[in-house]
Amino acid sequence: MKAKEKIRISIDENLCKRCGICSEFCSEKVFLELDNGMPQVTVPENCIVCHLCDWRCPDLAITLEVIS
Ligand code: SF4
Ligand code: SF4
Repeated sequence: MKAKEKIRISIDENLCKRCGICSEFCSEKVFLELDNGMPQVTVPENCIVCHLCDWRCPDLAITLEVIS
């Protein structure tokens, strides 16, 4: 990722089954897991675009977009 690029991370609440895999694999602590298990994107600027969250999400609920 280039220095000036930003990342947009979206989670489809209808697809997410609240398994916690995304927050568990994210080394940069981008997600906060709410009490109901739903992940919330809190610090997208910390994302290093490793794709461990979206590629491992069993329900394809996460979309990562690089925006310049
Ligand atoms: S890995 Fe996917 S299904 Fe599991 S909590 Fe994260 S967004 Fe939801
Ligand atoms: S791409 Fe990597 S750093 Fe970015 S939110 Fe997903 S797991 Fe975290």
